[in-house]
Amino acid sequence: MQKLGVLRVLRGNAFMPMPLRPDQLIRDEIRALSAYHVPDATGLVKLDAMENPYLLPLALRHELGRVAQDAAINRYPDAAASTLKAAIRSSMQVPEGMEILLGNGSDEIIQILALAIAKPNAVILGLEPSFVMYKMIAAFAGVRYVGVPLKADFTLDLDATLAAIHEHQPALIFIAYPNNPTGNVFDDAALLRIVEAAPGLVVMDEAYHVFALRSFMPQLLRYPNLLVMRTLSKLGLAGLRLGFLVGRPAWLNELDKLRLPYNVNVLTQQVAAQVLAHTEVLEQQAAAIRGERTRLMQALSGITGIQAFPSDANFILFRVANADKVFEGLKQRGILIKNLSRAHPQLKNCLRVTVGTADENQQFLTALTASL
Ligand SMILES: *Cc1c(COP(=O)(O)O)cnc(C)c1O
Repeated sequence: MQKLGVLRVLRGNAFMPMPLRPDQLIRDEIRALSAYHVPDATGLVKLDAMENPYLLPLALRHELGRVAQDAAINRYPDAAASTLKAAIRSSMQVPEGMEILLGNGSDEIIQILALAIAKPNAVILGLEPSFVMYKMIAAFAGVRYVGVPLKADFTLDLDATLAAIHEHQPALIFIAYPNNPTGNVFDDAALLRIVEAAPGLVVMDEAYHVFALRSFMPQLLRYPNLLVMRTLSKLGLAGLRLGFLVGRPAWLNELDKLRLPYNVNVLTQQVAAQVLAHTEVLEQQAAAIRGERTRLMQALSGITGIQAFPSDANFILFRVANADKVFEGLKQRGILIKNLSRAHPQLKNCLRVTVGTADENQQFLTALTASL
């Protein structure tokens, strides 16, 4: 007690300098960031985060209950996660000879990739607008980020992208396929030109694979600098936090050194492996969501004052005259979507709605018409 008192007296005088303040200690680029904002959705129909609106069938949930009950949570998880990796390998068409790296969500894999290439002059290249974490995580890792604008209709500007690759020689390129928040898939031939022109790694982020049913996974055999990233989040298991990267062992063995030893916990490993033994359930849900997406798209396209952009994902981006007004109007009527109006200049007056259940989508459409 007395010792603490002495310390307090001495703080700030000649014996003990004042400790640094956050603005003196924390890197400028970190202080310039705003934290990833997750709004409170209590009491609202939640159509803002690309979650799957369906629960798993009761019988499967009971099975998962037994898995959780028997899980050895007193032990550290299997660091190699071999059971889960085998389940991923067989349910996700991972090509022979390719390695799998697991992450606590694919966000963690983006971070591992950024840390791995973070040499003093390294560059990460992304297309804009796209998934915000590429740019944020580049800042976390102290890597320069270059964003190449998409065209006004959100298609790929191949010439501009190839020119930027030539100029900046990026160590790492992230491409969301389909793209978030625009919902479209870029042209395959153009993407292969990018893979061929890239001096470093190209990561195809296939977070929405089940809604697009197109993949670069088979191309891994042809392109040594290509990696494919997936997540179980948009597939219906967002709460488990599991993402994975597929690619050649020569790359993944290096990346694995940056992975924290027990990054995927016991419950996630065991529950995910059990669910992946029933991929048909997830595929049925994805098919229902794709059907609802078509209905929602048709309804949105029929409303005057709305421009809806084509989507191969489980969300639809649309533009209105006044996004702030519509967003608030929807919220007052109990519907939460995402306002992207200030996220990027090309997204002015754009909103993004996640495809929900038939009932949720109907509630959204009714509230939307009243909010325009
Ligand atoms: C949602 C999303 C992710 C993040 O997925 P997690 O596995 O939940 O971290 C990655 N990439 C894109 C393009 C996304 O939209």
